[in-house]
Amino acid sequence: MNDFIEVAEAIKNSRSPVLCGHVMPDGDSLGSLLALGLGLKSMGKEVTMVSSDPIPELYNFLPGVENIHVGNVPTGNYDMLIVVDCSVPERLGDTLLPLVDTVSTVVIIDHHVNESPFGQYNYINSRVAATGELIMDFLDYLKVKLNQDIATNLYTAIVTDSGSFRYENTTPETHQKASRLVECGVSVARLSNLIFGEQPIESLRLLQAALNTLEVCECGKIAWMSMTMEKIQEIGATDQHLEGLINYPRKVKGVELAIMFREMVGGKVKVSFRSKYQVDVNRLARVFGGGGHVRASGCTVEGELSQVQAMVLAEAKKLFRGC
Ligand code: 5GP
Ligand code: MN
Ligand code: MN
Repeated sequence: MNDFIEVAEAIKNSRSPVLCGHVMPDGDSLGSLLALGLGLKSMGKEVTMVSSDPIPELYNFLPGVENIHVGNVPTGNYDMLIVVDCSVPERLGDTLLPLVDTVSTVVIIDHHVNESPFGQYNYINSRVAATGELIMDFLDYLKVKLNQDIATNLYTAIVTDSGSFRYENTTPETHQKASRLVECGVSVARLSNLIFGEQPIESLRLLQAALNTLEVCECGKIAWMSMTMEKIQEIGATDQHLEGLINYPRKVKGVELAIMFREMVGGKVKVSFRSKYQVDVNRLARVFGGGGHVRASGCTVEGELSQVQAMVLAEAKKLFRGC
């Protein structure tokens, strides 16, 4: 691990960095990528932004999003790879993985729990709600002016990963940063409506189907839902439409641990975990080769849906006495 100034100075000295976030990009990954990209560009650097997976339509409003190269890396002479909101190579995606070996310096800025990130320079702070908070600190150090476009990206990063300032990761500093961003011209009402007020019909159809599978264990502490590939295809939905489904089992009164099972191509199941107060779901996901945060984590497990579900639930039940 490096200290903040070491990492900030390394970034300051780069001339042609390539920037990316993680697979299945979310608001924090994209907002952080764009805010840093726009900021470094304003310093005169030759910035390239890439994403291994498509940008969810929901985020098409983000300023600068049209400049992100999706699914390919343009040939170029990059002197630095900066990875935001991700510190494990698996979450870079196949398209971007080769960059780790071909670009001379890799810098990681992340807030996921990780003791062995893969960069030459690593700045990890798992106490912040969003990587966007860290990007804001770096832009301040680099004396980048937070214009409305940069502020909109940073606010999106923070408001999405903090669950609109409702999750445990929200600190006084999270609010202070958001306050500054509003002063920089962010329209809270407009962004809230764009991000949370509307959903594509596919997302609501998926929710309808997923709620039919909602189950709660006898002790009332664990709730889960599942989604088959057949259903996803029938609805015509894609990855982007599945985001947020996990919030529904989490909403069940009295539930401490929420789980979402989702069938993937190639005989795999993507499992998402959320907890309210007690369970460290990062540890639970690690049992199955995944990871994340204390209150939000995930993993991908090989096997058939019902098999994976039984295996994961058996492990989850061990966490509750009398379950
Ligand atoms: P989600 O359930 O929204 O896909 O992911 C929640 C969190 O869990 C993410 O912020 C991410 O850090 C982590 N996560 C999800 N899937 C994986 C995975 O397969 N491996 C690791 N290491 N982390 C994951
Ligand atoms: Mn993320
Ligand atoms: Mn994040």
